[in-house]
Amino acid sequence: MKFLNPLILSGLAVAVAAPALSAEVNIYSYRQPELVQPLFDEFTRETGIGVNVVFLKKGLIEKLQAEGRRSPADLVLTVDISRLQNIVDAGVTQPVDSAVLKANIPAEYRAADDQWFGLTARARVVYASKERVKDGEITTYEDLASDKWQGRICTRSGTNSYNLALTSAMIVHHGEAATKDWLLGLKSNLARRPQGNDRAQVKAIFAGECDIAIGNNYYMKKMLAKPEQRPWADAVRIVFPVFEGGGTHMNLAGVALTKAAPHKADAIKLMEWLSDTKAQEIYAEQNGEYPLKPGSKPSALVASWGEFNRDTIPLTEVAKLRPVSLRLVEEVNFDE
Ligand code: FE
Repeated sequence: MKFLNPLILSGLAVAVAAPALSAEVNIYSYRQPELVQPLFDEFTRETGIGVNVVFLKKGLIEKLQAEGRRSPADLVLTVDISRLQNIVDAGVTQPVDSAVLKANIPAEYRAADDQWFGLTARARVVYASKERVKDGEITTYEDLASDKWQGRICTRSGTNSYNLALTSAMIVHHGEAATKDWLLGLKSNLARRPQGNDRAQVKAIFAGECDIAIGNNYYMKKMLAKPEQRPWADAVRIVFPVFEGGGTHMNLAGVALTKAAPHKADAIKLMEWLSDTKAQEIYAEQNGEYPLKPGSKPSALVASWGEFNRDTIPLTEVAKLRPVSLRLVEEVNFDE
């Protein structure tokens, strides 16, 4: 799949094999083919509804806007609450009023106005050196600002979406002033200027540059799968910090129905199918994240990293606070 031109509809093979397929759903996806194709293959097998996916690296909103009412796309798939909210704010989606989606997806993982729905969630965890960090040494996000971590923490840019969402969640829990102090404390504990992606921080732990790093949980799965990155993964264990008075910060991979949606009924059928246990577990297995429907389980690998309590603040709130978080990160010159 990787080598397909992104404009080639990946459902083509299905359509050729089964020319009787008339029903279909078209998707614009920021998620890579290997993560979502197993889902759509199973959906087509069960329902006979074809799924065509256009994989994009950027420009999804512009594409939908340019196509307007004639857009062939029914659904958009992406990650990160801010990206989902951007798509909604651009006016290219429509709400879905579905009792199935509401029953399957906890309220904090879907938009209050039904414009987007989470499908799986990723935890923003701490990667801790197996050698240099004892069990129980870090248990909260607030603790990242404590003096004992002086010169021991690595992180990517404070303006990165994952970190902005974490900062926004901190504001929801403790307010703006306390969050600014937290950012200052965290900054003063950094072993080096914020740089690189989440995996680069784990590499830095492996290299001895720092002892703990902030990162999304699924990168552990990705590192374990790459021989050259496996030693980085082996140097750390995952810790699930919580907010004082809350749980572990979650972000999401989600879906929204486009405003144009030429196959609206089947698209909603697919959305509902994606929220049910089987699809939840297939997707979570592929992406190393956590399913959202109560009772559905993460993969054995992901489960092996431990159990934890998810934070339950609505991600709608997190999305709203992004501009405030960005301002605070700039006020403290976090990346300097
Ligand atoms: Fe990521």
